[in-house]
Amino acid sequence: MRDRWDGTTLTDSSAVRKVIIIGSGPAGYTAALYASRANLEPLMIDGGVGLGQTMQGRGGQLTITTEVENYPGFPEGIMGPELMDRMREQVARFGTEFVEEMVTKVDLSERPFKVWVGSDLYRGSAVIVATGAAAKWLGLEAEKPVWEGGLGGAGVSACATCDGALPVFRNKELLVVGGGDTAMEEAAYLSHFASKVVIVHRRSDFRASKIMLDRAKQNPKIEFLTNAVITEIHDVKDKRVTGVTLRDTATGEHTQRPVSGVFVAIGHRPNSDLFIGQLEMDENGYIRTHHEVRTNIRGVFACGDVQDHYYRQAITAAGSGCMAAIQCERLLSAEGDESVLGTPTEW
Ligand code: NAP
Repeated sequence: MRDRWDGTTLTDSSAVRKVIIIGSGPAGYTAALYASRANLEPLMIDGGVGLGQTMQGRGGQLTITTEVENYPGFPEGIMGPELMDRMREQVARFGTEFVEEMVTKVDLSERPFKVWVGSDLYRGSAVIVATGAAAKWLGLEAEKPVWEGGLGGAGVSACATCDGALPVFRNKELLVVGGGDTAMEEAAYLSHFASKVVIVHRRSDFRASKIMLDRAKQNPKIEFLTNAVITEIHDVKDKRVTGVTLRDTATGEHTQRPVSGVFVAIGHRPNSDLFIGQLEMDENGYIRTHHEVRTNIRGVFACGDVQDHYYRQAITAAGSGCMAAIQCERLLSAEGDESVLGTPTEW
């Protein structure tokens, strides 16, 4: 027996579900919305609460962003976490069941497909993968979480919106790494609390959109340090961030800079490790799809950032979630009762 989102219990976790949706960002919620309205009675395994720096958990990446100004229908903008809460409410209205945990293993070799959450097994005639993407790290020892001997969670973060307002960062000099929109956005957010924010970028050209770069340049609290990379974050022994060592990429010269926090904003990688060896992926781990949302396995769909390295927007993720649910509904109704049987074939 498992607790359901609304306080009742799901009595038979071994029953074969029509569709299991893995992941609960805009793609997963939109897939669930369309699937539930098509009477597919979806089970959504939502990622549970956030797992710190590498996984955002329930609600996905929008739960760690501030204002979303480009989601249609919100002329004044909306905060990312609120947008996700609203999507969840809308989905719940139509009867999606939630398992508030992380999927730990899948077996997509035959239908019904098997999805485990620890020792609990769920089976589905179809699976929609909407696991999104997560922040990338520089690869420095000090980025490891505190409990692994690093400074992650103790002054090193990949999410300014989650951590930036902490007292430890107030009126301090902070550093943001990256030259994309995320770095500009994080720096702008941090500038509300910090005495100064230094954006460190490894080149002199920026990947960020002009509007966001210009905004950052006009912010009096933001300073730019280009052609520079961080080689070390201090001070692990002290269990807090006291400064960084920087290397000038042009001259090779090393300098020290005292700062109280380091925010890494260098992009994302898809959350697809669970499917390695089962679903086809590109060289960066993005799940390959054809017909928009079909994976190499019949009955398994992928939507959102886990299969999209190009658009990576909430609205495009939502759109592909809709496509996955519609294609899923059509596949299951075309297959009829056969959909729960047999080894999956190419499609
Ligand atoms: P991104 O555009 O891929 O930019 C990543 C940045 O990090 C690049 O400047 C890159 O440098 C740098 N970088 C990568 N690996 C590095 C390393 N190991 N060491 C140092 N620097 C490194 O990623 P993003 O900024 O997260 O944006 C992703 C997408 O989301 C974009 O399409 C963006 O427009 C969108 N986005 C939109 C908004 C918004 O509209 N509000 C906000 C955030 C993100 P190089 O340039 O040298 O490769």
